[in-house]
Parts: sequence; C-alpha cells; structure tokens
Amino acid sequence: MSSFTPITDLKHIHEFSKLKERENDRFKEFLGNTVSEEVDELVRELDAMVSPTISCVTCGNCCKSLMVCINDAEADALSAHLNQSRKEFDDQYLEKGSNGMMIMNRMPCHFLADNKCTVYEYRFEGCKEFPALHLPNFKRRLFTTFMHYDRCPIIFNVVEQIKDRIGFERDTN
Ligand code: SF4
Ligand code: SF4
Repeated sequence: MSSFTPITDLKHIHEFSKLKERENDRFKEFLGNTVSEEVDELVRELDAMVSPTISCVTCGNCCKSLMVCINDAEADALSAHLNQSRKEFDDQYLEKGSNGMMIMNRMPCHFLADNKCTVYEYRFEGCKEFPALHLPNFKRRLFTTFMHYDRCPIIFNVVEQIKDRIGFERDTN
C-alpha cells in the first residue's frame, strides 16, 4: 500500500514553487538526458497515483488561468445547450484570433462557479485534457506543464515525485 500523501495547500505550493525555480531549471535540463518513453511511463504511473488524491473542486485554478482553444463543434454544442445562437455565444464568450483560433474572452472562465464547471458535460477538449499528464511526450510539454506547476497540485505533486523516482539531485537549501 502506498504511503503517498500529496501536498494540497495552494498557498504552500505557490510559495514553495518560488523557492524551487533554480532547482526546476536544473530538473528540466536533467530531463533532457532521459529517455522520453520511460519518462512518459513514469509520469502516467504518478498521475494515476496523485490525481485521485487531489480534489479539483477545492482548487479550480486551471479554470482561472488556462487558455483553452475552442473549436466550432464545441462552440456549437455549448451554445445550443445554453439556448443561444452561435453569434450570441461568440459575442458573449469568445475571442477570435486572426488565424481563426478561438479562446474564452475572460479568465477566470465564464462557466466557473464555486470552483465547479457549470457546463461540465459540454466543457472543451482542452479542459478535459488538462493537466495532460496521461498523454505521451511529457518532455515536449515542459513549458506549459511548468507554467502550472505553482498552481496545479496535480502537476506539482507529480513533478516532485518524478524528481525522487528518477534519481535527480535536489538543491540542498
Ligand atoms: S469550460 Fe468548465 S472546465 Fe473548461 S475552463 Fe470553463 S469552467 Fe473550467
Ligand atoms: S489546477 Fe489541477 S488540481 Fe486544480 S482544478 Fe485544475 S486540474 Fe485540478
């Protein structure tokens, strides 16, 4: 039986992250010399261990800071669910880039209330995927992963566990 106890206090994670900036830079370099497939397997294992121990409804940080790309099918489905025309929906909620990319026009997300998604069945693919630790190529997503290290307890705990499991030497102070 695993004795893993996650760190879940968001303030502590935020403060701790500031102290770990240099160590994390070294860690990212260290990962450069590891085998991608082995890292992916470890990350998937740790994600499966950590995720069930974290309560997303006491956090909600991704919905307050994640820039999710939205496609037409998703916007069609959610606007229909909200009984809005696509134009009403787009005008109210979306920002469109010149390349046709659509994102939410506000952070925190319009659909977040009391740390819960009010359109959960219709949430976007990017919301479902986050924090994406189950996907291959973890090493290619270090930038976005570490962007959320200081605010996503799942990412934070998985990264700290990887350090222990992979033979990385932590800073001593
Ligand atoms: S749609 Fe729901 S899950 Fe996605 S960012 Fe908004 S509140 Fe969060
Ligand atoms: S930031 Fe991470 S822990 Fe917080 S709600 Fe999102 S996925 Fe869950």
